[in-house]
Amino acid sequence: MLIPDCSDNTVEELLDLEQEQPSGQRKSARKTKQILKAYRYRLYPNQEQETLLKKHFGCVRHVYNWALGLKIDHYEQTKKSLSLSDIARQLVAKKKNPEFLWLNEVNSQSLQSALRNLDSAFQGFFKHKRGYPKFKSKRNPQQSFQCPQHVTVDFEQEYLNLPKIKEIKTTFHRTFEGQIKTVTIKRTPCGHYYASVLVDETQHSVAPVVQEITPENTLGLDLGLNHFLIDSDGHKIDNPGFLKNSLDRLKAEQKIFARKQENSKARAQQKTKVARLHEKVKNQRKDFNHQRTAELVKKHHTAFVVEDLNIKGMVKNRKLARTINDVGWGQFILFLSYKCERVGKTVHKIGRYEPTSKVCSCCGYKRETMPLSVREWQCPSCQQLHDRDINAGRNIRKIGLADMLGLSICVKSTSEAIVAGATASAKGLQVAEDGSQEAPTRIALAI
Ligand SMILES: [Zn+2]
Repeated sequence: MLIPDCSDNTVEELLDLEQEQPSGQRKSARKTKQILKAYRYRLYPNQEQETLLKKHFGCVRHVYNWALGLKIDHYEQTKKSLSLSDIARQLVAKKKNPEFLWLNEVNSQSLQSALRNLDSAFQGFFKHKRGYPKFKSKRNPQQSFQCPQHVTVDFEQEYLNLPKIKEIKTTFHRTFEGQIKTVTIKRTPCGHYYASVLVDETQHSVAPVVQEITPENTLGLDLGLNHFLIDSDGHKIDNPGFLKNSLDRLKAEQKIFARKQENSKARAQQKTKVARLHEKVKNQRKDFNHQRTAELVKKHHTAFVVEDLNIKGMVKNRKLARTINDVGWGQFILFLSYKCERVGKTVHKIGRYEPTSKVCSCCGYKRETMPLSVREWQCPSCQQLHDRDINAGRNIRKIGLADMLGLSICVKSTSEAIVAGATASAKGLQVAEDGSQEAPTRIALAI
């Protein structure tokens, strides 16, 4: 099984494609569903190729900004919007203008992609309430362009061939079979070049069979700050704190950068050094998340339950913002979800306001308060001693199972915790403690 090194954007593209199908039809459409995978490779262009790549970035940015300007002017004058085909026609004329003949030096399809990207930026603004499209700056350290067709790979010679730029040295750490859809070339702030290759593998892969969800094969995952991950079986993974480890060095390098003279060569070099450090932290985090999710997917469990975290909201807490961004929970859940989907396993998200820490996972007793400082506690009702995080992991698993298997759980904030025992036994699940369905006081789901 190939686990491609997905860049965030391409994964989002994949998810968008999947979301287009109404959920009711997903299972039946699975057989014919297009299977797209993204592979990201590092490029090592020679000087001549690098000049050509830079030309592509420049021309694509120019066309994007020119088209955005056209659209804005046209709207101001006529109060009507300018269509994509109108702009494409004007682009053909512009390329014949002696002043802009240099636009012909680059791949014409990459220029058309810029127009399509602008069009989707406007659609995002009108339909999905995203920000108004902005002009792209030459100074933006990250630059990119797309090649929608005529890209080939030579795995043996390790070359990537783009229209107008042949034989770019590439490290193909993974091969693929299938039709190349779109290739996006990116330059990162520290000056590295990458190609994200989107491949249609529908003809070469078999759609996975959805694996059965059972209580024994369901694992609850609690994501935290002290520990990166705690599962309902009691395993803990430490928070690697990549940014925290590099923070002192980053601060020192940033200080040096601030002292360098404006517009000097030394300042530009120092800027690259800082960017390289940031990129290192980003890659370490990504690598860590890929490894942890791959380990989980290999386990015998067929379903994983996670909390639907409000990361954007949590980051507003200034004291915790840096730590929360550093752990990369969002990326972890994204990687876990797409890896599970490929093998027919399930990732279930439970509501973000479910009480997972305050409730005893054995008897359902709910504490009134649960300050963050409490790491261990004893349930006053059933006397069970709890590790705060493992207890939360177990509750996450329980709530997930209740959602997925159609059960309902209700918890009362007294020692007389009531759990829907009747529905549980109807589903063939054990009912714990006194096991009576008639008197549902102090019954917990033994799942
Ligand atoms: Zn208890």
